Amino acid sequence: MPTTIIDVAPGDAGYALVLHGGAGGRIEELSLEAHGDYTRGLSEAHAAGAAVLEAGGSALDAVCETVRRLEDNPLFNAGRGAALTASGAAELDACVMTGDGRAGAVAVSRTAKNPVFLARAVLEESDHVLLVSPRDEQVREWGLEQVSPDYFVTQARQLQLTNVQAKRLEASRHGTVGAVAVDREGRVAAATSTGGMVNQRDGRVGDTPIVGAGTYARDGVVAVSCTGEGESFIEGVVSHDICARMRYTGADLATAVAATIETELDGRGATGGIIAVGAEGRVVVAHNSPAMFAAYRTPFELVALT
Ligand code: ASP
Repeated sequence: MPTTIIDVAPGDAGYALVLHGGAGGRIEELSLEAHGDYTRGLSEAHAAGAAVLEAGGSALDAVCETVRRLEDNPLFNAGRGAALTASGAAELDACVMTGDGRAGAVAVSRTAKNPVFLARAVLEESDHVLLVSPRDEQVREWGLEQVSPDYFVTQARQLQLTNVQAKRLEASRHGTVGAVAVDREGRVAAATSTGGMVNQRDGRVGDTPIVGAGTYARDGVVAVSCTGEGESFIEGVVSHDICARMRYTGADLATAVAATIETELDGRGATGGIIAVGAEGRVVVAHNSPAMFAAYRTPFELVALT
């Protein structure tokens, strides 16, 4: 599959935001109605994050607010409506990172309503970077909204799991979500959230909560959020590889993303998608899968769904 790269020059807003809703099969396979629902979900999430930045808020606040909207939307593979493990459970992973080099992440989260907020709490309230299978008491102690594990499980995902296990359906991977932003102060941040891969083994953790794999941010350079076959993103340390190419070789953002996809994903026979925002506000959306859901602004319009 050839790589698609969208490269948008910085606008004059003084900030930039781009989000993704996963990468996978052809968008033409969606019904017209589903297409509209996804587009609306992506647009609304973008508007929510952009409002934060427009009001002078931080890139961290903007990416968390954007991802929260997508986690609450059952269409996407994050929060409610997440893809289910082989035993039918929702095990959620999320990560946030700020360009000053701080990160927080959570894996196999089961009761925090918004895993992205739990990841942020790990960043802000603990000395740790990654919590696995966090205890309910911990979620409560940080004052985060809790739900029963059933809250995340939708009928559509149960049907998908049954069909994938019966080999009636290929596991479509659209749906992991992420956002990257640069704010008016020039700070970058990234957030990613997922239920992982449909029918994954219980306890499997993908690239999303692994700093430098699915999520990475560094002030003065770039913020990156990834989606796709997580194992390859971990082995290729994909989001950090993009940043390293920019820092060490002086590559521009689009060139760095293209080179990383070629070397680390194509080279492993893996597919997926990447969103990135450069410190100066350049936005890149790239995928070597047939399609990718994303939303970003050009000087003329909000583009949702690619
Ligand atoms: N990268 C995610 C994972 O491997 C899945 C996805 O993006 O669709 O857990």
